[in-house]
Amino acid sequence: MASLNLYDPFDRMQFGSESCFLCGASTSATDTVTVFPAWLQQYYQLADKQLQLLDKSIVTYQDLTIPCCPVCQAQHLQPLEAKIEAAHAQGVAGFKAADERDIFLWLSKIFYGILVRELANEKNPLIMPEHTVGENPKMFTKFQAFYKLLQALRVPIAFDDFTPFSLFVLEVTDTDDTTPFEYRDELTTMMFSIKLNRVVLVCCLLDNGLLQQALGRVWEDVKEKALHPLQANEFTARVYYAAYLLNIIPEYFERLATPTDNFLTYDTLVDDITMPVFNPWENSAYAKVLEEMWKKWNITREQILRNTEEPMSFIYDEAGAVRTIVSFPPVV
Ligand SMILES: [Zn+2]
Repeated sequence: MASLNLYDPFDRMQFGSESCFLCGASTSATDTVTVFPAWLQQYYQLADKQLQLLDKSIVTYQDLTIPCCPVCQAQHLQPLEAKIEAAHAQGVAGFKAADERDIFLWLSKIFYGILVRELANEKNPLIMPEHTVGENPKMFTKFQAFYKLLQALRVPIAFDDFTPFSLFVLEVTDTDDTTPFEYRDELTTMMFSIKLNRVVLVCCLLDNGLLQQALGRVWEDVKEKALHPLQANEFTARVYYAAYLLNIIPEYFERLATPTDNFLTYDTLVDDITMPVFNPWENSAYAKVLEEMWKKWNITREQILRNTEEPMSFIYDEAGAVRTIVSFPPVV
């Protein structure tokens, strides 16, 4: 029978190389997995490429690893990787047919792997990160709640009548597309997005589906459409900005629905109901996020805000109809 014991590394801030990231079992120096899975690194030739962490330290994809015991590798990670690799081989159709929860757990493991490296670096007194995530109580609460969800990768857990995340699977046209692989993460908003050829997965990993609701109209308009990269990045900007406006932090509580259950059930509560769920949308702040997402096209914030009431959009035309972008190649 599968273990129903949850593990919480935040309890004793156990992020070192001596315990499995998923179950806490003791690990040796060779019990590791790469944060970005091996099949993905091979497919996109990432192994020797470099990525930069929050504290500005540089690491290659193949060296970005987390401790993972052989049991969790064989029983929990490998089956998930096999599913996602199979979905990836089918492109957009594969990801649309895949179980959303599997995609969420797959993204969560990568996000968490990066986070653990950030937390481990914070223990190093020689490095002074810009944001000390472990010492911010609000961030700490978020990470702990998120980690409880990540346990669903190991422990059989049913979410009682809620979806803890918002996942958007976007299809991108090959027109003007120069980037087969890229990813973006934002620890403070629990946002993660990754581009895999024609597919962009955009996910808020801890919002109880609120972003999916809030962005429902634009999501309905784009979800069946192959988007130009500019449009995909605009949609991504809307999600990242909305995540920034989100005020609430969900909490999760486990229970056994019946004494003989061989799985846990999670209930959820939202911490502070006196706050509005979202802070008001401000076009000037949104334009800053959009400018960043449109960097490759060199579109400036001033251009985006030429009409301050209606920021520039490549998803909608002036009449509010969904646009088709024939060509708009990136300049950098
Ligand atoms: Zn383990």
